[in-house]
Amino acid sequence: MAEISLFENALKQFSKAAKVMELDPCLADVLMHPKRELTVNFPVRMDDGSVKVFKGHRVQHNIARGPAKGGIRYHPNVTLDEVKALAFWMTWKCAVVGIPYGGGKGGVEVDPSELSTAELERLSRRFFSEIQVIIGEDKDIPAPDVNTNAQIMSWFMDTYSMNVGHSVLGIVTGKPMDIGGSAGRPEATGRGVRVVTEEAINYKGLDAEDATIAVQGFGNVGSYAAKLIHDELGAKIVALSDVSGGIYNPDGLDIDEVIAYRDQNNGVIKGYPNATTLTNKELLALDVDILIPAALENAITMENANDTKAKIIVEGANGPITPEAEEVLLQKGIFVVPDFLANAGGVTVSYFEWVQGLQWYFWDIEDVRKALHKIMRQAFGSVVNTMHKYNTDMRTAAYIVAIDRVATATKLRGIYP
Ligand code: NAD
Repeated sequence: MAEISLFENALKQFSKAAKVMELDPCLADVLMHPKRELTVNFPVRMDDGSVKVFKGHRVQHNIARGPAKGGIRYHPNVTLDEVKALAFWMTWKCAVVGIPYGGGKGGVEVDPSELSTAELERLSRRFFSEIQVIIGEDKDIPAPDVNTNAQIMSWFMDTYSMNVGHSVLGIVTGKPMDIGGSAGRPEATGRGVRVVTEEAINYKGLDAEDATIAVQGFGNVGSYAAKLIHDELGAKIVALSDVSGGIYNPDGLDIDEVIAYRDQNNGVIKGYPNATTLTNKELLALDVDILIPAALENAITMENANDTKAKIIVEGANGPITPEAEEVLLQKGIFVVPDFLANAGGVTVSYFEWVQGLQWYFWDIEDVRKALHKIMRQAFGSVVNTMHKYNTDMRTAAYIVAIDRVATATKLRGIYP
């Protein structure tokens, strides 16, 4: 069987929205192609003295609204096709929240767990030097993604700075605060999920303090989302899960206590005492007001879509609902807040980090939170208005908002020469 191309799937979503909004086919053709695809093969000296060649990619999908923005992942299954799809989605994610970026993404075909720290550093520095021909603080700004972190961003920033001869803070985001990172970055994606959850609660006429919520995934996104929805909206988080299984308490879980338990238990919630247990499958089928899948892709498929009973689903993870399953959910009247809107809080605070780095002036956390809330609320509002205007679903509406912004920028700038 032929492999399913992630990029082809991404283009299908785009085409559905392009059809609803009657986008000019010539413009659609421009927007469907990545602007630049760079593949590099580069040697790294290993600790035993041998030299190994690695392959990496950096794709800039569209830069009509500003520099490309997107993470770099290290994974043995990285392919150019995957990087193209991820860069494509970044274009729409940045556009839907209205931050002045285009979409980019990068990756290296490597299993970092097989490298020593010194090998990982040499690989990171050489890869960043190789892609330096197309990146820059006003051209393309990478960030962490799967298997890359603040330490790797520090090496990237230092490598670029060494090559140009002075410190360049704006070259990557996701840096530690000591070298230009932003306050509020760790909580940013969860906080964005919290803001759109509040907006969805209000839109559907629910009362936050009576709302029951289940969250799948208790990592960065899931745990911050659960904590902030509990602490700031007063909603009851009745179920949580991670790779080890789930926990349930109909009276509401104490999120700080669960986080403390997880941190002392190898990062998992299994065995948390003040709750009964349930499986991930049971969690996804709970009769709650709001379900937040914040773990992996393909959590809700044709196998379990019919079991879903939540009134609202907020996609914290990327791609947790398959397109076929979404049709089932929509027919059941479930309100789905799509991933590239719901989890855009992370890239939004990355944008703030970049702005702070360019100005060498740093904001306190209250300013970061206030600006993030404003952007997320406005984005949710534009998507809801567009959903009504086109009588469509939230995902298609989010695409329409995003495509319209990029298409308008492209038309205003014209086709060079
Ligand atoms: P993470 O690694 O911090 O946490 C992932 C969580 O999912 C962990 O609790 C893990 O135990 C759980 N999990 C893994 N496999 C599972 C399974 N089979 N069933 C149930 N739970 C499982 O990752 P994260 O940064 O929180 O990212 C979660 C999702 O959000 C991903 O799809 C990611 O792409 C997306 N996302 C993250 C950010 C960000 O800023 N971190 C931004 C945008 C999107």
